[in-house]
Amino acid sequence: MESRNQLHVMFLPYLAPGHMMPMVDIARSFASHGINVTILTTPKNVLPFASAVDRDIKSGKYIQFNVLHFPSSEFGLPEGCENLTAAPTPKMTVKLFHAIDMLQPQVEQVFRECRPDCIVSDYLFPWTVDVAIELGIPRLAFNGSGFFNLCVAHNLEHYKPHMNVVSETESFVVPGLPDQITFTRSQLPDIVKTKTRFSALFDKLKEVEKKSFGVLVNSFYELEPAYIDHSRKVIGLKVWPIGPASLLNNDEKAERGDKPSIPKHSCLSWLDSKEPTSVVYICFGSLIRFTKSQITEMASALEESGHSFVWTIGKVLTVDDTHNNDQQQQNSWLPEGFEEKVTQSGQGLIIRGWAPQVLILTHPAIGGFLTHCGWNSIMEGISAGIPMVTWPIFAEQFYNEKLVTQALRFGVSVGNDTWKLWATEESPLINKEKIKKAIIEIMNNSNEAIEMRKKARRLRELARKAVEEGGSSWSNIKDLIEGIRSYKPTDVTKTR
Ligand code: UDP
Repeated sequence: MESRNQLHVMFLPYLAPGHMMPMVDIARSFASHGINVTILTTPKNVLPFASAVDRDIKSGKYIQFNVLHFPSSEFGLPEGCENLTAAPTPKMTVKLFHAIDMLQPQVEQVFRECRPDCIVSDYLFPWTVDVAIELGIPRLAFNGSGFFNLCVAHNLEHYKPHMNVVSETESFVVPGLPDQITFTRSQLPDIVKTKTRFSALFDKLKEVEKKSFGVLVNSFYELEPAYIDHSRKVIGLKVWPIGPASLLNNDEKAERGDKPSIPKHSCLSWLDSKEPTSVVYICFGSLIRFTKSQITEMASALEESGHSFVWTIGKVLTVDDTHNNDQQQQNSWLPEGFEEKVTQSGQGLIIRGWAPQVLILTHPAIGGFLTHCGWNSIMEGISAGIPMVTWPIFAEQFYNEKLVTQALRFGVSVGNDTWKLWATEESPLINKEKIKKAIIEIMNNSNEAIEMRKKARRLRELARKAVEEGGSSWSNIKDLIEGIRSYKPTDVTKTR
């Protein structure tokens, strides 16, 4: 039975897999620590998590969904289009942003009626801070990325080193960071370089941060200690590293985030037939879409690399908002005969749709991860102890790449230098030679590759320890819960 002293914490994730998955992981972990948890989301977004939450309920935890109405038709979105992964073009993504904004009054009403003890809100919902203040409860922001990203963004804004270079391709060092980190201007988000339509939102996000109780981060102290200290001491943030989120719940790995489009046993038996660390896993997250010519270059690179591979082909790039036949497109976009050839020879396993990423990454056969550097993928690769080939495209992915290749040094870059605003827009073509070279560099037995493998394995051990009872992330969750329990509205102003 729920005790009268049980804390009630409400979680409000943003409607994209890369935000929802770690937040649901954290919410479920709070429930394991005895908290009564409610996750606010829309009907379609309940589905990928329903069975995990049902299992939690059956095992006696207090966790439930509060399901909101999603205004798809009001914004000209097809029925069921409630998540960024379902928006094939920038135009549709913008419509979805507007529809998501319209959830505000509904969510505020739920908060006022339920009067939870704490709100954990995605940082992209800055308005949740005002209702938390009104109710006299703490509001924690969930930041979807890591500390390295926070520090790079802060120091770029503070020192503006990109203003001192003459071209988009001249490299420069970001001053004041614990490591020597270089960028070119072409790798920076446009919001760093100029005012954009998102500038007001980002200014608001920084402003509300000061009124929040603190920031939850899917990272762990031992991964980036100097950047966590920098975030606290130099930027002045009150932060709790509580990850890796994917390790917080001892769970069925095959189901994480969605139902996989390949049966678990087929995936495992294919991997079981391979030598340890002999397979490259390729996945570009939940949002990125490539052109046919880029897919062709990837196919040739993978085949010519000579290494075995598991390739998750996501959705393909389209200019048409209305098309809904991704499967048919994916089939026709691979070079003719490629799939048959690599399947028959046993070199490749192709997954169309949703891959059981954590299940694959943690299999002993996996020796390398070609990733777009989404933060969750980085954390999952680290948790599995796998060296990476980095191929960032949008958002803060170029920052995450530098953590892997320049700060922690357990990966090599494929060499994409052009940041894009949208995951659903065309990027400059990366030719097969570059892709092949980077794959071979992490998969071969050179001293450098062996060193990267060792570093990655060491990080895996640190990640596992962080979430064990008494580990740094485990202790941070405990401290945080105590902080919520003893919260007084004046705490926010006092801690700054
Ligand atoms: N993911 C997955 N299967 C897929 C594609 C993605 O399990 O086929 C998961 C992946 O494990 C990660 C999340 O979706 O947890 C993607 O988040 P990330 O931050 O890496 O990238 P984003 O999708 O936000 O660009």
